[in-house]
Amino acid sequence: METLRALPSVHQLLEEPEAEPLVRRHGRPLVLFAVQAVLERERQAGRVEEPPTRWREVEAAIVRLREPRLRPCINATGVILHTNLGRAPLAEAAAAAVVEVARGYATLELDIESGKRGLRHDGVSRVLTHLTGAEAAAVVNNCAAATLLMLSALARGREVIVSRGELVEIGGAFRMPEIMRLSGARMVEVGTTNRTRLTDYEAAITPKTAAILKVHASNFQVVGFTESADLHGLAVLAHGRGVLLLEDLGSGALLDSAPFGLAPEPRIQESIAAGADLVACSADKMLGGPQAGLLLGRSAVVERALKHPLARAVRVDKMTLAALAATLDIYLTQAHASLPTWRMIALTPDALAARATVWKRRLDEWGVPVTLRAGESTVGGGSLPGERLPTTLLSITAPRASASGLVSRLRRNATPVIARVEAGQVVLDPRTVLPGEDEALLEAVRAAVS
Ligand SMILES: *Cc1c(COP(=O)(O)O)cnc(C)c1O
Repeated sequence: METLRALPSVHQLLEEPEAEPLVRRHGRPLVLFAVQAVLERERQAGRVEEPPTRWREVEAAIVRLREPRLRPCINATGVILHTNLGRAPLAEAAAAAVVEVARGYATLELDIESGKRGLRHDGVSRVLTHLTGAEAAAVVNNCAAATLLMLSALARGREVIVSRGELVEIGGAFRMPEIMRLSGARMVEVGTTNRTRLTDYEAAITPKTAAILKVHASNFQVVGFTESADLHGLAVLAHGRGVLLLEDLGSGALLDSAPFGLAPEPRIQESIAAGADLVACSADKMLGGPQAGLLLGRSAVVERALKHPLARAVRVDKMTLAALAATLDIYLTQAHASLPTWRMIALTPDALAARATVWKRRLDEWGVPVTLRAGESTVGGGSLPGERLPTTLLSITAPRASASGLVSRLRRNATPVIARVEAGQVVLDPRTVLPGEDEALLEAVRAAVS
């Protein structure tokens, strides 16, 4: 009891000189809250701390609340579209466009010519249709939302035919059978895991069929004895029988990945040309834009999707649209080198080796033990599974530190550095480290090893 009586009151503490700078920096309510919390802890523990310790804890309690969870980090994993790290980094022009509309008002749903209410998609739709050949386009929150909206608006209460080889799980709770159930469509599975033919789809069409759905196997491969129906054949079948052909394309590239030494990732314009009525894809995968979902296809079908109440629930904000418009402008002007995603894909083995060599030289000077070795980067983010891009890895060979300890120290750096562990060693891949991040990365490595 004696000790507890020695605890100061909240009021007394706030009068102490240490309170003043904290109040100035963090505001009085937050300091009051932290003081109360720290005193309560002392009371519970039956302990009275010395003032310096107590004030340190007060400050720590404030910092815990104020420290942003979301902050920039350095991606040294070599996974270009890393979902946990926000997928595609935006092009400079796209980031600038976000800042420009974020600060004030924007003509989000205003038609400048007529002064009347416009559609928020209008600006980007025009560019999307130009780039893909689709009649119409809409933008929603992400590809999962686009797929859910597509099925809800076009197939609720009716049947949708899908191959057993395409009942994918994209990650998290996005599993095709569940999205289908949620949309109110009845899923009709055809074929087998490894082989589904056009005739399988054909045999499953009934008067209750609303659509055939094609789903891109974006994050896994089925190899060996496989067969699937091509999109054009499905389009001819669907249209001959009066049903829709829908596609969940996932990544949705506009550029051809083959010239970069990668397997061809299906492109949006190819799906439209093959006759798909509506295609859903992501904007932050191989398109290299902000998180968004695109719906592209025939005007009447896009319109039906946009009229569904869900469209309002999954709509995008002005910042997303600004970033997307600026990203698409890069495709319009063929200035692809300014898209970070494609610039990283295009990095040559020589350029990567040269950069890793510079890193090694600096770390050698500081006495940090590192070696270089050949390795592989990946595109990631549910694109091009199994595809590898040759790179040079910087491997940290600190004898005393465990790999998991090193990785966690790098992660807890002021600017977190995300590395990967390969064969028991921490490796850093220059491919995904953005220009201008080298110095911070090397300092982080030095600090983590010391
Ligand atoms: C990635 C992916 C999705 C989900 O896309 P999000 O933009 O993350 O919602 C859906 N379907 C396929 C085939 C995908 O590859």
